[in-house]
Amino acid sequence: MEDCIFCNIAHGKVHSWKVYEDEQTYAFLDINPVNEYHTLVIPKKHYEDIFDIPDEEAICIMKTIKVITNLYNSKLVIRNIQILNSSGREAQQDVFHIHFHIIPRYSGDKQNIKWVTHNEWCNRFDELLEKIKQ
Ligand code: AMP
Ligand code: ZN
Repeated sequence: MEDCIFCNIAHGKVHSWKVYEDEQTYAFLDINPVNEYHTLVIPKKHYEDIFDIPDEEAICIMKTIKVITNLYNSKLVIRNIQILNSSGREAQQDVFHIHFHIIPRYSGDKQNIKWVTHNEWCNRFDELLEKIKQ
C-alpha cells in the first residue's frame, strides 16, 4: 500500500516519533495529540479495520498495547488510560490502516468522551440477542 500513510510510517519511509516496535507491530505518537503520550498502535502489514485484520495479528496489537501501557504506568506513573479503535467511516475512522489509540488521561485535562445513551432500548435486549444466536 504505497499511498497509505501508516504503511509508510511502519516501514520508515515517513518520519514518526516511535515509541515501540516488534516484528508485527509499530507504535508512535499521534501528531494531533489529545494529551501527552497520545499513541497509535498499528500492525506493520496493511489491514483496513477490525473486520479485515486476522485474529493472530489482533492479538499482537493487544500485546503491544499492554507493553506500552505498562511502560507508561511504570515510567510515567500514568494510572488512567483510554484505548480506542474506530473501524469504518460511520464509526469516525479517518485513516484506513487499522490503529488503536492509547490516550493517557490526567486529572483536570478538560477532555471528555460523552456518549448519548438510550436506556429505553434495554427492553429490546432479548430481541437483539435472538438475532445473533449461533
Ligand atoms: P482515526 O480518526 O481514529 O482514524 O485517527 C487517525 C489518527 O491518525 C488521528 O488522530 C491523526 O492525528 C493521526 N495521524 C494521521 N497522520 C499521522 C501521522 N503522520 N503521524 C502521526 N499520527 C497521524
Ligand atoms: Zn497501510
